[in-house]
Amino acid sequence: MSLASQANNSRLWIQHPLACSDPAAAGGVVVQGTRIVERVAAGHQPSEPVDQAFDASQHVLLPGLVNTHHHFYQTLTRAYTPALNKELFPWLTTLYDVWANLDEEQLAVASELAMVELLLSGCTTVADHHYVFSNALEGAVDRQVETAQRLGVRAALTRGSMSVGRDDGGLPPQHVVQEETTILDDSRRLISRYHQRGEGAMITVALAPCSPFSVSRELMKATAELAEAEDVRLHTHLAETEDETRYCQRLFGLRPLDYLAECGWLGDRTWLAHGIHFSDEEIRRLGEAGTGIAHCPSSNMVLGSGLCRTLELERAGAPVGLAVDGSASNDHSNLAEEMRQAMLLGRLRYSPAQVGHTDVIRWATQGSARCLGREDIGGLAPGQQADLALFKLDEPRFSSAQNPLAALLLCGAYRADRVMVAGRWRVIDAQVQNLDLEALMARHRAAAQRLWNAA
Ligand SMILES: [Zn+2]
Repeated sequence: MSLASQANNSRLWIQHPLACSDPAAAGGVVVQGTRIVERVAAGHQPSEPVDQAFDASQHVLLPGLVNTHHHFYQTLTRAYTPALNKELFPWLTTLYDVWANLDEEQLAVASELAMVELLLSGCTTVADHHYVFSNALEGAVDRQVETAQRLGVRAALTRGSMSVGRDDGGLPPQHVVQEETTILDDSRRLISRYHQRGEGAMITVALAPCSPFSVSRELMKATAELAEAEDVRLHTHLAETEDETRYCQRLFGLRPLDYLAECGWLGDRTWLAHGIHFSDEEIRRLGEAGTGIAHCPSSNMVLGSGLCRTLELERAGAPVGLAVDGSASNDHSNLAEEMRQAMLLGRLRYSPAQVGHTDVIRWATQGSARCLGREDIGGLAPGQQADLALFKLDEPRFSSAQNPLAALLLCGAYRADRVMVAGRWRVIDAQVQNLDLEALMARHRAAAQRLWNAA
């Protein structure tokens, strides 16, 4: 037996957590290879002997958090002065002129920084929606795949697209929009090269026009057909602002969801970012179709976009997940902090009893996994991937907190002490393994400066 297969077969018990989001795993979980093989009840021992144990008595144990929407490249335009304090459309048009100069080297370092931030916050599956493809960015998704593989993080990457530029009445500058045949050919290339299928997939590729109005009706339809033929998922922004609803009505004579449905997108293959401005009837249709919603509370507050109707969507049958959104509208990539925001924002629409800490943890784990079409992540059940986030409550902000699980959200946890992805520790003592963080931040600052100077 080789050393690698020995290591792979050893059984590790993450024992006696201080608290756990899954009551059936109150005594911890046993990990073997890339999977969880057992949930241990409180006060019990694993059913079979283990080779190693990790004392988690100072840790709150959660399934690894799953992020459902981001734009990694935007970490280069955080708190960017010209875009401050604007609503969605003027914010977008200001930033497009900066993003239009992005190159692959900048995108790679921006993606690495965003993935590291997510990992440090307890996130084990990252999603990105990259839709800026100038001539300097043809290998954007390829660079992101390399980065995710190097860091050992699970990634749901999307091949975004824009085909309607300013010359045709769209919002983005003309040189960051692409020919539709180029978009479809490159989508096929990325799926065949990188998309992994089935249980334990580390890299998946989905198709993701930036928004229904940044590509043509033909491309929306062709994208849905290609996703069906290749059996990959579909993603886009929808119903983020009232401006968008008016824009769609003027352009297509339809509300955003009606247009989406007309393009063949209303189904369980699709997950949508934001999903704020839906009527009762539209929520019923989304639930019936099983279309997922990536709820982005901080971004919605920063841009003043509105409050997602999370509970109605979930009750109707639509998967509801959580997302940090891009870093030009959040502006951090911290999914643990996003859980707190989702709880606080939810209580402005609903009652405290309706949006409890366990509901939000469910959105950030199981709900997000469902948005990505995955059953093998987002939980601690035997057979699921060993993706874990462990938080210590050892800072003044947690001191004397009685309920450790609720304390994560109420006291504001923002940094995981340990993170495991597919059975391997990727974060130990709140440090990403095999990474020089200072050097990464220096490269990131230099890349941002270069991008701002080009604007
Ligand atoms: Zn977004």
